[in-house]
Amino acid sequence: YIKEYKKKTKTSAKLFSKSAKLHVNGVSHNIRFYEPYPFVVKKSAGKNLVDVDSNKYTDYWMGHWALILGHGPNSVKKNLQKQIEKSWMYGTVNEQTIQLSELISKAVPVAEKIRYVTSGTEATMYAVRLARSVSGRKVIAKIDGGWHGYTSDLLKSVNWPFSESESSGVVNEEQIVSIPYNDLEKSLSILKKYSKDLAGVIIEPVLGGGGCIPADSEYLKGVQEFCKKNNSLFILDEIVTGFRFRFGCLYPTMKLDPDIVTLGKIVGGGLSIGVMCGKKEIMEAADTTGKKKSERSYVGGGTFSANPASMVAGYSTLDYLKSKKTVYSKINDLGKFARKEIGKAFDGKVAVTGKGSLFMTHFLQNGISEIRNSADAAKCNGGLLAKYHFKMIAHDGIFFLPGKLGAISNAHSKEDIKKIVKASEEFTC
Ligand code: PMP
Repeated sequence: YIKEYKKKTKTSAKLFSKSAKLHVNGVSHNIRFYEPYPFVVKKSAGKNLVDVDSNKYTDYWMGHWALILGHGPNSVKKNLQKQIEKSWMYGTVNEQTIQLSELISKAVPVAEKIRYVTSGTEATMYAVRLARSVSGRKVIAKIDGGWHGYTSDLLKSVNWPFSESESSGVVNEEQIVSIPYNDLEKSLSILKKYSKDLAGVIIEPVLGGGGCIPADSEYLKGVQEFCKKNNSLFILDEIVTGFRFRFGCLYPTMKLDPDIVTLGKIVGGGLSIGVMCGKKEIMEAADTTGKKKSERSYVGGGTFSANPASMVAGYSTLDYLKSKKTVYSKINDLGKFARKEIGKAFDGKVAVTGKGSLFMTHFLQNGISEIRNSADAAKCNGGLLAKYHFKMIAHDGIFFLPGKLGAISNAHSKEDIKKIVKASEEFTC
């Protein structure tokens, strides 16, 4: 397949060699590189990416899973165009932000106060900082293999299935503790050891980058209960899961009561965003207006926080999702179909994990039959998964970032999923 790929991506090869001279790894996010070189994209529309050699791919990477309505949906495009005519940067309070926040705060009960940043990484960074300043403690617990962006406070070499060491250059490793997903007994025993110093716990309700693995609600409830008793903050990272399965977050369906929730991806409608929201009394710890210096906690923002382009793209996406609730039933059903049929295509050799419109194929080996956490995912054959995805890029016109999970958007159809199933049947492992 490498030969086939090289033959059809000659312009990409030339451009990528230029890119490799100019950029670290030739890319601007480590995960975007794959062998022999990533194709260079020319344009995108609906479910498709088109590369500079005019090859068309049905996309399941979907802008790091941000594009729930597909690439360039009209409902977002027309509002964005109108906004661009007015301005794409104010750097001051604007009405577009208020409109997006009104939608978010109605749909996400815990969002009593909101702060916008421009990436998920910053949102989790500030969530952790707030947990530390509110609790007066230093240690943060995270899930082994959980991914919250390149926030230095949340990187540690753990059982991370898809990379060896993420923590080079991180100075406070001793203040980060890992707990195993979906193993309440072990998690609680670790948390108890750190209880006096534990500022908070941060968890994704569906592990995204760490293997596309849903959490048991009993697991999350158990960790939450520990946090409440221990006066540690319970933080849910819903950057992937927020507005992905329903209009709102996943946590209310599990009857959880987090202190802080982080959002991103979908709520920016394809433009840069990060959101930290939470209970008033906690978020207000960071409200500096009228407080004495000694009483202030700081969470930040930046040059591009709440820029009107991101706010309008986010608002238009959520407004569409709110008015067309069938989007969720459609893409959730397609996800269910994909998990079932891809599993069948491999005749028991894989586990297809996920929830709703998210799915990921794990090639089973080492006695693993079920994927419950990143340690299980790490024991599967990640190399084979990358080959399977690469074969689809080179041969079938289907794009998954090799080794990563797929996200179905409103632009996909059942016929598209059937093509993945066919490509799976043809893949010899
Ligand atoms: N949290 C989760 C759960 C994520 O999946 C990601 C990114 N994939 C982030 C945080 C970081 O977001 P960003 O890439 O926008 O910084």
